Amino acid sequence: MMDVEPEPKRRYHTAYQSSAEFDRSLLRTIQEASPDGILVVDGDGVIVSYNQRFIETWQIPTDYLDANLDENGTIPEEKLMNAALAQLKDPEAFIRRVQELYERPYEEDHTELELRNGTVLERHSMGLHADNGHYFGRVWFFRDITDRKQRECVLRDMAWYDPLTKELNRGHFLERANEEVERAQRSHTPIGLLMLDLDHFKDVNDQYGHAAGDKVLEVVCKRWRAALRSVDLLGRVGGEEFAILLPDSDWETTQSVAERLRAVVADQTVSSGEVEIDCTLSGGVVQVRLEDQNIHDALSRADEALYRAKANGRNRMEPEHPHQKCRA
Ligand code: GH3
Ligand code: MG
Ligand code: MG
Repeated sequence: MMDVEPEPKRRYHTAYQSSAEFDRSLLRTIQEASPDGILVVDGDGVIVSYNQRFIETWQIPTDYLDANLDENGTIPEEKLMNAALAQLKDPEAFIRRVQELYERPYEEDHTELELRNGTVLERHSMGLHADNGHYFGRVWFFRDITDRKQRECVLRDMAWYDPLTKELNRGHFLERANEEVERAQRSHTPIGLLMLDLDHFKDVNDQYGHAAGDKVLEVVCKRWRAALRSVDLLGRVGGEEFAILLPDSDWETTQSVAERLRAVVADQTVSSGEVEIDCTLSGGVVQVRLEDQNIHDALSRADEALYRAKANGRNRMEPEHPHQKCRA
């Protein structure tokens, strides 16, 4: 009969008296090695454990911790929760959701939380269930995702906005405008559309230089933005060409907005260094129609009207039908 080699004692077992002791130590080590702040709460909502990263992620000040340690060297849970709640921008929403989750032991949660100082935390939470399905608590993971959110913001801005004027770029304007058109078609609300082009802009560049031309584009957009509602979409659709979509605007309103946008540019100069630059614009003014398939149909009518505005002497707004007088 062959001798059976005894199974070698595993290296980790040699350091522990019992497997229970080993399990406890393993759990503690994993908790402390975790990149996430971890909080474990039992079925009665009593804190079972948390790791050092939890304190760091929630930016709980060490002097607060030191001042509130009990005789066992741990911080009472109420004090810990108060410290965390004090950091939140919206503690009421946090408490509401937490209570909801305690009532739904099988529900998982993925939420972003904003702290008062602008830090963004990602929260992941799930119920803890024994093999027999018995619920015995909940574990919460918190991760600081502020840097990732900032990078996402920069990338989104690059994809959506024109870097010079900070207004919507062509692609994003068309996307948003199409959404608005669909919405208005469903609700039968009127939408106005303007196509604007700065007059003799080549001459501005030739006379004052390209940097001064850029300054004009920037200032003109700021003046328009100040004269528009926040729901109005302003897009830079070409070099010195802009489209403006006016949701919930009938023909009267659209015309008067168009005239206001013409006047805020024509009535003031743009300062660039030592020089004051005069600038005007022409525009085509239309309403989106029920039969328009998308924004392109309305834009091509606005383009035609713009062409007429140029032909009729510039510094003017032309309606889509020559007989519809735009207010002077
Ligand atoms: P009009 O529209 O009145 O017929 O004349 P225009 O001189 O404005 O005509 P056109 O559309 O042919 O020329 C537009 C000029 O705008 C040409 C280009 O040099 C200038 N332009 C376009 N994009 C920019 C920009 O980002 N910065 C500056 N400074 N100029 C730009
Ligand atoms: Mg042009
Ligand atoms: Mg032009």
